[in-house]
Amino acid sequence: MIGHRGKDASALQKNITDKLRPLMFTKNKIALSTSSGTGLMEGAIRSATAKKAIVFSVGSFGDRWAELGKLNGVECDLHREKDGDPTMPETVDKYLSTGKYDVVTITHNETSSGIMNPVDSISEVIKKYPDVLWLVDCVSSMAGAKVEVDRLGIDICITSSQKCLALPPGLAICSVSPKAEERFSKVGSKGYYLDLKNLIKYIDKKDHQYPSTPSLSHMFALDFQLDRIMKEGIENRFTRHMEMAEFMIGWANKYFKVFPKAGFESLTLTVIANTRGISVADLNSQLGKRGIQIANGYGDLKEKTFRIAHMGELTMDDMLEVTGAIEEILNLK
Ligand SMILES: *Cc1c(COP(=O)(O)O)cnc(C)c1O
Repeated sequence: MIGHRGKDASALQKNITDKLRPLMFTKNKIALSTSSGTGLMEGAIRSATAKKAIVFSVGSFGDRWAELGKLNGVECDLHREKDGDPTMPETVDKYLSTGKYDVVTITHNETSSGIMNPVDSISEVIKKYPDVLWLVDCVSSMAGAKVEVDRLGIDICITSSQKCLALPPGLAICSVSPKAEERFSKVGSKGYYLDLKNLIKYIDKKDHQYPSTPSLSHMFALDFQLDRIMKEGIENRFTRHMEMAEFMIGWANKYFKVFPKAGFESLTLTVIANTRGISVADLNSQLGKRGIQIANGYGDLKEKTFRIAHMGELTMDDMLEVTGAIEEILNLK
């Protein structure tokens, strides 16, 4: 372990920032948080909303953002699509054109329903409203799918260590645009630990150090993992994820049905509709005997769907192994 107030800590934290920028395609400031992604989601909606936020949700993680707003006394409205449907740019435009909102939140990759939202076309709409800050939950997509933060104009982009970065849980990351920083000053301090205004100011002033003791252990791991990611090549990493997604979508549609609307399928996990009425819990315990684990549906989608991840360090071999095992257990051939 090293001291968190020494030169080594500053160097570690600066190195991480420098290595994250190309991965996130941004020149913006980057802040780490010793919390999971939800911590930064909470901090972001609180520190960024001066007037009112509009939350576009396509599932449980989108809903969470509205709850975070509500429980923190942040003015916010929720537009919820039904599970399996994406957020469409026209819908975003309809809300923003009212002039009522100064923050919009989007879930890039909804891990409950398997939707990957069309952030490219959504960005075209949001660019028409320069006074609106755009917060994006990239928790289960960053480092697995390409998210070009600056080109898309994302003001706060959030991710966690334990999804596509394939690290232990406990560290969250966000990028912060100059526009977002201006807003933080206008809003003023909100809370202490998750206050983004203070966090960014502190990192600036204290040579990349943090207001309270950060999880340096996670930072060592992240620094190491970012080197591995660069060694694989960012584009190669995205291609690997795309190939796994293509394979899983094909497999799922052959034996079951992909749950999210066609054309909006996630690149980092496939959510499969349980069209055969199997017991997902039983299947998972059978898979467990082979050292494999899939995920049941999330929340209300439990047993109605199941989820197979293809993110992080997983490869096509893992996809062949999991699908082969499911075919055998369920006698699908
Ligand atoms: C996992 C997840 C979260 C929650 O992240 P934590 O790191 O568990 O707080 C939020 N959004 C999405 C899309 C997720 O997949």
